[in-house]
Parts: sequence; structure tokens; C-alpha cells
Amino acid sequence: MFNKLQDRISESFKHLRKKGKLSEADVDETVGEIRRALIEADVALEVVKDFSARVKEKAYGAARSEALNPAQQIVKIVNDELIEILGGEDRELHFARPGKGPTVFMLAGLQGAGKTTLAGKLGRWLGKQDKKVLLVAADLQRPNAVTQLEIVGEQAGVTVFAPEPGNGVGDPVDVARRGLALASGSGYDVMIVDTAGRLGVDEELMAQARAIRDEVQPEEVLFVLDAMIGQDAVRTARAFQEGVDFTGVVLTKLDGDARGGAALSVRGVTGVPVLFASTGEGLDDFERFHADRMASRILD
Ligand code: GDP
Repeated sequence: MFNKLQDRISESFKHLRKKGKLSEADVDETVGEIRRALIEADVALEVVKDFSARVKEKAYGAARSEALNPAQQIVKIVNDELIEILGGEDRELHFARPGKGPTVFMLAGLQGAGKTTLAGKLGRWLGKQDKKVLLVAADLQRPNAVTQLEIVGEQAGVTVFAPEPGNGVGDPVDVARRGLALASGSGYDVMIVDTAGRLGVDEELMAQARAIRDEVQPEEVLFVLDAMIGQDAVRTARAFQEGVDFTGVVLTKLDGDARGGAALSVRGVTGVPVLFASTGEGLDDFERFHADRMASRILD
């Protein structure tokens, strides 16, 4: 991830460092190169434009100030602005007020984004923090989804509530409701609801996800986004924002060799922070998302 972007940006900084003093034309050239590199990495155009304008404005100031090392200053400006588009300060998961009953997290996203895997990862991560976690299988669309969640739950050491086999397709809202009753009655701290994925943005399934959300009133609706889907990420994120109004983003497949545009666009386009990063198929390939660390990965 980010290899090409990283090479391009470091190349443009190298040119800059050769110069003792900087003119506005030098700034324009460097920002222009970074802008092209970001576009090639599939970063959304509106995010690139905003980023370039902000870097330019600050970098002109640095060039004019005749500071000792203008190139270094510009590297810092680019770093700070990258952190900004990646989300700035980290935000913690929101939990229910003590005494209110279990905290509910609901997962939404396209099929194959990594929701079911994430349910296991998040369950295990929370379990390590001494939370009693229940996974609820409300993805009744894909034939194997329930079994897959049961397997993931077992691997993660987390209990799974699933509809009885043989009950036909069943009603995912009802499953979520019964899951919540179990979680409330049995002293669970957190319930994670896996919902049906869809191949494309599908209004019927979006309405189903909304119905589940309205039924269980989650503290967080987490939009699970495959970082490998490139340009489609923005369109997908917008559709899910409109459809279920998610409160946090989880980026998956950050271990892949995608160009990274999704990771760099989603916060800028939706205004919703990225909370976690999934970096592999294993249950422990999962971490809090830190904008500053991600920016360093791009610039170092
Ligand atoms: P869902 O349809 O959204 O529930 O997606 P799944 O959880 O079934 O994941 C789809 C595929 O992506 C599975 O083969 C997962 O093992 C894989 N996967 C999930 N997260 C990651 C990740 O962070 N990195 C990689 N490389 N693969 C992942």
C-alpha cells in the first residue's frame, strides 16, 4: 500500500531539497507533483484540491519567510495536511452510558468488504479488554454468512447468536431484536451486529440495514470499506452515508498493494473518522487507526 505514492512524494521532496531558497514557482512545482501523485493513487479529486490549496497557501508563506530550511518546512506542512485529511486527532469508540445496557455496534458495507472477519477481530479486541461480547448474525442474505460468523466467533473466543437453522430465510430485524434481548438479559457489555453485504449499492438492503439500526439503536454504525476498491470507494461511502448514516469507518485490506486512495479520501468526503484498520486475514491483523502514523507511512 502507498508504495508508488510514497516514491513520488519523496522524489518531489528531493528536488526541493536541492534548492537553498524557494520561489513560489518551486512551491507550485512541488505541490503540482504531489497533486498528480495523489490523483494517480485514486484519491478523490475534491480531497486533492482541498489538500493542494491548503499546502500551497502555507508553503508560499514558508518560501517568503526566507526561513533557514524552507524545504524542510514544506515537508512538515505536507505531513500536517496529510494528517488532517486522514482525520487529525484519533477518536475513541463510543460506548453506552453505564447502566444503559449493552453497547451496540452495527457493521455495514459491501459484500466482501470484510464485515464478518471484522466482527471476529473487533470481538476479540474488545474481549481482551475484559468486555463480554456477543456477535449477532443478522446477515441472512448470503447462504454461508451465518456459518462463517459462527466459525469466526469460535476462533475469536466470542459467543455468536444466530437464527436456528431450518427457519427459512428469516427476518434479520427480528434476529437483531432477539440478539439484543439476549445481550441485555445475560449481562453482555457489547453486541456486534453483522448485517447483509451487497454487491452494489442496493436500496432494499439499505432499507433493511436501516430497519436493523432503528431497532437496536447502535452506539456506532461502522462502515466497513475495502481499501482495494479504488475510485469506487467514494461513491460507495456516500451511498452508505446517505443510507445508514454511519458514525465510524473501518478500512480493511490495508495490507494489499492498492494505491491507497480510499484510505486517503473517505474521511475528507464523508467527514466521518476512520477508527480501525484491518491489515490481513488473521484475527489479530487489526489495529486502531492513527492518522499521524498513516501519514508517516506515506512520507517516510
Ligand atoms: P463480508 O462479506 O463483508 O462479511 O467479508 P468477509 O469478512 O467474508 O471477507 C471477505 C474476504 O476478505 C475474506 O476472504 C477475508 O478473509 C478477507 N479479508 C477480510 N479482511 C481482510 C484484510 O484486512 N486483509 C486481507 N488481505 N483480507 C481480508
